[in-house]
Amino acid sequence: MGTYLERVEETFSETNPGLCDVLTRVHQRDPHEAEFLNAVLEISEAIEPVLQNDPTLLDVFERLCEPERMVVFRVPWLDDANTVRVNRGYRVQFSSAIGPYKGGTRFHPSVNLSTIKMLGFEQIFKNALTMLPLGGGKGGSDFDPKNKSDGEIMRFCQSYMTELARYISGDQDVPAGDIGVGGKEIGWMYGQYKRLNYGKFEGSLTGKGIQFGGSWCRPEATGFGIVFLAKEFLKDVGIESLQGVRVSVSGSGNVARFCANKLLAEGATLVTLSDSKGTLIEPGGFSESQLNMVHEIKKTHNGSLADYSSDTCVYVKGSRPWQSKETGSIDVAFPCATQNELDGKDVEALVEKGCKAIIEGANMPTTRDGVDKVKELKIPFVPGKMANAGGVAVSGLEMAQNRSMIHWEGKEVYAKLQAIMKEIYKQSKKCAEEYNVDLGSGGTIYAFEKVGGAMQAQGAV
Ligand code: NAP
Repeated sequence: MGTYLERVEETFSETNPGLCDVLTRVHQRDPHEAEFLNAVLEISEAIEPVLQNDPTLLDVFERLCEPERMVVFRVPWLDDANTVRVNRGYRVQFSSAIGPYKGGTRFHPSVNLSTIKMLGFEQIFKNALTMLPLGGGKGGSDFDPKNKSDGEIMRFCQSYMTELARYISGDQDVPAGDIGVGGKEIGWMYGQYKRLNYGKFEGSLTGKGIQFGGSWCRPEATGFGIVFLAKEFLKDVGIESLQGVRVSVSGSGNVARFCANKLLAEGATLVTLSDSKGTLIEPGGFSESQLNMVHEIKKTHNGSLADYSSDTCVYVKGSRPWQSKETGSIDVAFPCATQNELDGKDVEALVEKGCKAIIEGANMPTTRDGVDKVKELKIPFVPGKMANAGGVAVSGLEMAQNRSMIHWEGKEVYAKLQAIMKEIYKQSKKCAEEYNVDLGSGGTIYAFEKVGGAMQAQGAV
């Protein structure tokens, strides 16, 4: 596999020495940020044909790799024993070339600047793919909401927002949720933002409750969007319908839940779900009521899939879904939990089970060697930044509704989401054909041409 610098040298030193220099300078600035550097390398590989065609875009790319602004701040909060605790908060405002910074907020102990930069960088391209005027950003904290009371989480959210509020607004930077941040946390952060902002109604966060400016279909948007795009893509790889198709989904949070829900509605046989502690397998497929039971268990931060039981299920502690023999055959895999949850060995195991396609629901769930294996075995593959763009797309629609003080019906939002996902697939496929590259690279090229073109038009920004 090699280190970042070895890969840069191996991939670009002969074909594109200019890009090699850019990537070396990006490394010099933050040599320890493995997650971020990996994301930069993946994007570089995808857009290389564009940089070959137009070397003037090299300096645009170098600027794009440096966030416009990064804010790192202390978040003090009081626990239930009246002890003062402290965490670190982040907001990376990566690119505003085509619109206000937009991207989620993650609360998880693994969060550090490298993760947030990786997610923010990816977000630039994902947001450009939605066809909406949205820049890229991401934020979060190493705060762990697990085993915390609602009071503690609320006080943490309020403190986090007390600091963040000075950097965001409805037309500058609009955060949303992500791992560990759902509707409840968004409500608490929004409430605090409004107090600090003299009570002005501003759509400064998305994923809000439907009663106070939230959009219909926002909770469902990411998961449903994955399936809308999957249907288009799978037709092209010979799977005409999801009826009876055996699918493996990882995760059991927001994205996994609604992806699973939609897959069931399409007639697929949903064989797995997972969480950070293990995998739940129903070899004959989960029914809708079983899926609801899983949701009931997972609706608090402390719920564990180990607490689910049925006559037919198998729970494999400490395991991810891909290599478990108990699943039987799998036709399509949907990794929807977190980054780096599917590696080269997992890809091989899936292929042995008959897997014909991998569609990423999470952000960068496939490791570097996993992506290499996907390419080597020529497995049809959709990267997360295309497949999961439905969430940010409906966030964009929420911003549009807030700014014009209107509220669209669920049916209208649903139809717009469907149309956006189809368009993402169409444009990515078109670019892939034009440059003779894979679908994921096609999507990245589409996004880069849009953002890079905007930056060129705006001068040295
Ligand atoms: P979530 O509701 O917090 O759910 C996360 C799920 O992943 C949970 O099942 C969690 O298990 C599991 N998980 C977390 N860390 C894990 C680890 N280290 N190993 C295995 N499993 C782990 O988050 P989400 O909103 O569904 O987000 C899931 C993924 O989709 C993330 O990559 C996120 O960035 C991406 N995404 C989300 C949205 C959105 O609209 N929410 C949009 C685009 C992309 P536990 O419950 O045990 O912690």
